[in-house]
Amino acid sequence: MDKRTLLMIPGPVEFEPAVLAAMGEPTTSHLAPDFIDAFGQSLQDMRRVFESPSGQPLVLAGSGTLAMDCAGANLVEPGDKALVVDTGYFSERFTTILQRYGAQVTRISASPGSRPSLEQVRAALEADSFKLMTITHVDTSTGVIAEVEQIAALGRKHGVLVVVDGVCSVAGEALNMDAWGVDLVLTASQKAIGVPPGLALLMLGPRALEVFNQRTAPVLNYYADWTNWLPVMQAYEARKTSYFGTPPVNLIFALHISLTQILAEGMPHRLSRHITISQACKAGIQALGLTQVPLRPEYAAHTLTAPRYPIGVNGADFLVRVLQSGVTLAGGLLPAIRSEYFRIGHMGAVTPGDVLATISAIETALSSCGYEFTPNTGVEAAQAAARKTNQ
Ligand code: PMP
Repeated sequence: MDKRTLLMIPGPVEFEPAVLAAMGEPTTSHLAPDFIDAFGQSLQDMRRVFESPSGQPLVLAGSGTLAMDCAGANLVEPGDKALVVDTGYFSERFTTILQRYGAQVTRISASPGSRPSLEQVRAALEADSFKLMTITHVDTSTGVIAEVEQIAALGRKHGVLVVVDGVCSVAGEALNMDAWGVDLVLTASQKAIGVPPGLALLMLGPRALEVFNQRTAPVLNYYADWTNWLPVMQAYEARKTSYFGTPPVNLIFALHISLTQILAEGMPHRLSRHITISQACKAGIQALGLTQVPLRPEYAAHTLTAPRYPIGVNGADFLVRVLQSGVTLAGGLLPAIRSEYFRIGHMGAVTPGDVLATISAIETALSSCGYEFTPNTGVEAAQAAARKTNQ
């Protein structure tokens, strides 16, 4: 067991043993009754996790980027105007994808750690006429959370399709797709959904499907074309089979287990657990005297924490030392500030104990990098925050 470390990066994360066990089961036919039932039930359960009774679920073999590509390919026709609410690295990726399918993209950006204001969004929507807008709910590169509910309301007012990249938020942050008027939410399996990497998950709202059905140009991506996949999803949900591409059987069995666990925990409880754990982590970091990339507490997501290195601490050195204490953390990702910060993922099966072990490993590493602080301050602050929010 000497190689076992605690995986506290913003995806993949630690997974539940029952989910991992499903990955190791003998692979069945994708036409086997057990599989048909597991896939059909997963599609039904996705509606509850995405808070979208009216949505059409879609599961593809691939990563989160495929889910973004799939949204872009099916919704964009050459010449369409799109608005990207840019909060970092993954918003930039969405810009590139939309452009690849021929969209004219307008971006509203903010400096690292900040986010575009609602006023900026309103002004952009008033200045031009867009077919769709994208919002990165949690930009994993900075740990900044976007105001999806308010931005979606603005989009609705202007008749713009609202597409949310929820890769770092679905099942970890509040996201009420139907109630907030969001038209498409996409995510990947390896974060708060709690399944090893390999599944792209989308929920298509009625307006997104209507726009898709009214296309005049062909979808410029063969694999991701909804025409190929919608009959497959509808068949499995009706407990029938239909084939376009072989489904990732074991991953879908694992998804079935994870979604069942998520719904057994209950979405309200799950979201408040993520808040508690996030507050504990952030309290520990703050008590150690480290600042965070998000410039204000209300900009900070609950699925990860992005602390800045203290002056004099070398990032690469620090991360190796944290790993020597048994915890894997991630470095920075946003090019402009990459070497200035690190990232702690805390979503899915994460426990308060995992966060305490992480803060303890961070203390050990900081101390061996020569940073001075009172030992245990971080751990004690994290513990106190976890206790307070649990009461
Ligand atoms: N969007 C966001 C917000 C992400 O965090 C990620 C992955 N970290 C992606 C998109 C891309 O997902 P993947 O790496 O699974 O392709």
